[in-house]
Amino acid sequence: ALAMERVSHSYAALRAVDDVSLSIARGEIVCLVGPSGCGKSTLLRIAAGLERLQQGSVALAGRLVAGPHVQVPPERRSIGLVFQDYALFPHLDVLRNVRFGLHKLAPAEATRRAMDALAQVGMDGYAKSYVHQLSGGQQQRVALARALAPRPDVLLLDEPFSGLDSQLRAQIRDETLHLLKQNGIATLLVTHDPEEAMFLGDRIALMKQGRLVQVGRPEDLYLRPSNSFAAGFFGEIN
Ligand code: ATP
Ligand code: MG
Repeated sequence: ALAMERVSHSYAALRAVDDVSLSIARGEIVCLVGPSGCGKSTLLRIAAGLERLQQGSVALAGRLVAGPHVQVPPERRSIGLVFQDYALFPHLDVLRNVRFGLHKLAPAEATRRAMDALAQVGMDGYAKSYVHQLSGGQQQRVALARALAPRPDVLLLDEPFSGLDSQLRAQIRDETLHLLKQNGIATLLVTHDPEEAMFLGDRIALMKQGRLVQVGRPEDLYLRPSNSFAAGFFGEIN
């Protein structure tokens, strides 16, 4: 459902993403891991269309959305985003936050769809609450509901569980896995936590200095790392 081919991206002289090809099937979760600054967020922003494509191509559900002479804006790609810095609107209540991306639907339908998405994350009881009245974990769930409500083909999650304590993190992680599997969406999830990647990923993509070092099933990366960098990255897990 998501296909990136030979994508490269530079900020001035810095090559942040270097010749990356990665495809994600419907219902598949790929976890993108790697050290800070290796280009994970840049790659997600390119897939989302928040960063203009410089080289390569991006296709969503078989449709070219970025390539030479093609640049479909984010709102016209069928994607859901949960970014660290992609916060909820503080001046809107929870229901309005989730309805925001559903403006093309009839109002009653948009409300129904938003309430369904909130129920999926167990937040339908908070529809009239404002963001400052919610805990960090509850806000995270609302952000996920907002991303899921338009029923996107692809979900892009950048460190969606950061800022949560370890117990809540584990709980929301489990719930999210269940939700993603249920919805059959192609998911690219950035995490700096190798254990989280092992748990959530059907496959793991390991990145270093803009390049994909290894892509494979969690057990393959763990048991058969392609080099010492991959071995070191997952070696800390027992
Ligand atoms: P982290 O794990 O810390 O979030 P990351 O893997 O997401 O890191 P990116 O944010 O993609 O890394 O950044 C990749 C490289 O590009 C870094 O060296 C960063 O400093 C640089 N970079 C990112 N955004 C910009 C920008 N807007 N302008 C210039 N350089 C940037
Ligand atoms: Mg990042």
